[in-house]
Amino acid sequence: MKKMLIGGEWVAAADGRSIPVVSPSDGVAFDAIARGGSAEVDLAVKAARAAADGVWGRFTATERGRLLMKLGQVVAEHEEELAVMEAKDTGKPMATARNDIKVLSRYFEFYGSAADKVHGETIPFLAGHQVSLVREPLGVTAHIIPWNYPAQMLGRTVAPALAMGNAVVLKPAEDTSLSAIRIGELALQAGLPPGALNIVTGLGEEAGAALAAHPGIDFISFTGSNEVGTLVQQAAARNAVKCVLELGGKSPQIVFDDVDVERAVPIIVRAIVQNAGQTCTAGSRLLVQRSIYDQFVGRVAQALSKVRVGTPEMDLDCGPVMNPAQLKRVQGYIQRAKDSGIQVLAEGTVQSGAPAGGYFVKPTFFGAVPRNNALACEEVFGPVLAAMPFEDEADAIALANGTDYGLLAAVWTENAGRLHRVAKAVRAGQVFMNCYGAGGGVELPFGGTKRSGHGREKGLLALEEVSTTKTLVHFHG
Ligand code: NAP
Ligand code: MG
Repeated sequence: MKKMLIGGEWVAAADGRSIPVVSPSDGVAFDAIARGGSAEVDLAVKAARAAADGVWGRFTATERGRLLMKLGQVVAEHEEELAVMEAKDTGKPMATARNDIKVLSRYFEFYGSAADKVHGETIPFLAGHQVSLVREPLGVTAHIIPWNYPAQMLGRTVAPALAMGNAVVLKPAEDTSLSAIRIGELALQAGLPPGALNIVTGLGEEAGAALAAHPGIDFISFTGSNEVGTLVQQAAARNAVKCVLELGGKSPQIVFDDVDVERAVPIIVRAIVQNAGQTCTAGSRLLVQRSIYDQFVGRVAQALSKVRVGTPEMDLDCGPVMNPAQLKRVQGYIQRAKDSGIQVLAEGTVQSGAPAGGYFVKPTFFGAVPRNNALACEEVFGPVLAAMPFEDEADAIALANGTDYGLLAAVWTENAGRLHRVAKAVRAGQVFMNCYGAGGGVELPFGGTKRSGHGREKGLLALEEVSTTKTLVHFHG
């Protein structure tokens, strides 16, 4: 059983409870994690506060940066071990897991190298006064992350918080806590002082809810579903705690009649198949100008029918979905769409030899999906692509903006004016033009509009979210 990291010590749940760790590739439990609850969250928040007020709080920006860059290096040295662990825990192909660990390492490197480049400002004011604006850490930051990219999500949210000098309490997803625990060990090895990073594993409604509601935290970053995001923001509101929410998406690929087909097709297929569609930024809506609709979706169907699903060791295009609930959810969307007569344009295949107990779903491509259908509006969080025709630029923009979400969008056209007009009109936190970037890109500020959430992670903007300012006014005469 894997223990939790609190104040630099490895501890079990006070009541000894644990949660089995199940492999999505075969449905078999192979390990267990501690089931922490409000008691452990309380200890972790206190340990974080002690670190923020103690040794960790006295680290200079340069020392913090150096330590994080060293951690990035240590992670890189353990890439294969961490990738095998992550692949077993999530079911994702080895190549994807290796990339996830590279991105994790890069987060520590990026924010480590940024730590001592955060400067203040001076402000012109009354005669005889010197005013400076200094940037300070928030104190204790709480982070709740989902199961789709456990290692990447940890890096994305924890690295900037540590870089700014906050002390962190992390609650990983109950399905995927193993890499977080190992990263906790590596962080201590790299020299992170006790209490700077605390990891409480457990159930969302126990450990997660206790963390979000804890009066001792100064900030919360939540990545996950809209339902839980709302609960987290309500809990944060009660303590007047700042909150960053990274929620769901229904991101459109907007394809005009002058698209570079050869370039677009493989990228569009990958954007929905990657991580078995369990990516907040999955390109799950394919909007195609009517004049090329049949021809273009035909090409996508051809490519998607070649997609193969299997275990991490098979290392194919994608793995299983995360858990039985997710399997039921995704299969439900596919079945309801089929039952209502929506045309299946293509399906991928589950590789023969994939274990019968694994949570495998055939990637499925639906054509001419009605605009008010669930597949056109709701986040499936699985490898399901919905194609819809549009008439012209105005119709494309209306269709692209026609969901509750606004996370990513992509525009595909060789007309530069149209690229920028559409990019400006689409409501999304990131817009890709003749390319697509689901995940990765640690340098690129990222986050939602509308119900996809608020606040920004990634890039240098993340450092502003996890810090505050103090205005110093000095009368010197
Ligand atoms: P989820 O059910 O909302 O869980 C996310 C995290 O919240 C997990 O650690 C979960 O713990 C915890 N949690 C559950 N109930 C809680 C509660 N009552 N109070 C506090 N914490 C609680 O989401 P998921 O199913 O893991 O992830 C899928 C969703 O995440 C999708 O909607 C996806 O779009 C979104 N997502 C968004 C982004 C983004 O950057 N915008 C990135 C990735 C995923 P347990 O695991 O123990 O339940
Ligand atoms: Mg697991």
